[in-house]
Amino acid sequence: MSAKLLMGKPIADKINEQIKKDLAELKEKHGIVPSLASVLVGDDPASKSYSGRQKKNAGAIGIEYELHEISGGTSEGKLLDFIMELNQDRSVNGIIVQMPLPKGIDEHKVQSTIVMEKDVEGITPTNMGLIVYDRPRLCPCTALSAVKIIESVGADIYGKNLTIVGRSAIVGKPVALLMLQRKYSSTVTICHTGTAKVGTLPEHVGNADILVVAAGSPELVKGEWIKEGSIVIDVGFNVVNGKTVGDVEFEVAKEKAGYISPVPGGVGPLTVAILLQNTVEATKWQLENP
Ligand code: NAD
Repeated sequence: MSAKLLMGKPIADKINEQIKKDLAELKEKHGIVPSLASVLVGDDPASKSYSGRQKKNAGAIGIEYELHEISGGTSEGKLLDFIMELNQDRSVNGIIVQMPLPKGIDEHKVQSTIVMEKDVEGITPTNMGLIVYDRPRLCPCTALSAVKIIESVGADIYGKNLTIVGRSAIVGKPVALLMLQRKYSSTVTICHTGTAKVGTLPEHVGNADILVVAAGSPELVKGEWIKEGSIVIDVGFNVVNGKTVGDVEFEVAKEKAGYISPVPGGVGPLTVAILLQNTVEATKWQLENP
């Protein structure tokens, strides 16, 4: 059997269509064009490239995008002051701080300073906590992208076994929390380095009707571990000998899975669309509490 490929672009296209409708409504009813402030500290080439892509996509859809480039030598205090200025600025609807930050700056402290209504990456403690209470507002972009791809299959996923490999705050844990919402009611297992150490990763992967892998380790999950007919979402993005590969051994996995998201082309193309959707949702949230 060869798995059906789960591509991100058609889902991103649908999200973008909805964003355009929402933008037209925001303009007509409130005279607002949402604006996203992006903060880039230092000159990390990957962050520069990400922010360039965000700017291009935002501009194409009609969201304002302002890149604030700050010297890598800035202090944590100065950066926090700048975030607080953006929090107060009524012309700014969304704030994204590009990661990684230079050494010596506490990333969690910086991200937690963003007000919840402008937190378009869904990484503040409040927005993360709202998922725990089954009342999500702004969710982490990559985690939500994985969930949207799972939804796109249209399979009956209620109560099914979901195994997640990776427990990061931006992917693994929020995917678990999102899929625990009553509407999905997944039976969730989270695997991490501890699971790998005791050697039970293959067993947990083999139990999964739905598998989400976000470990950052090339082809960590072997194709032969995968349950026949399962849904496999590979979030991993690794460059090996100049070639981009995921965290799943794709060539073997695709012969066992029912559906699989490839790398590149799966989760990646969706994340910017979700970021822009979050910017629209953030703007609506701010209108609720003028
Ligand atoms: P992270 O390093 O913060 O977390 C990785 C997690 O995987 C950790 O919790 C760790 O316990 C677990 N892990 C690592 N090695 C493992 C092993 N051998 N066995 C079991 N668990 C293991 O990474 P992250 O930020 O969550 O990103 C994960 C991957 O997703 C990376 O490849 C990253 O590039 C990719 N990513 C892609 C996008 C996208 O837009 N496509 C966005 C974010 C992250």
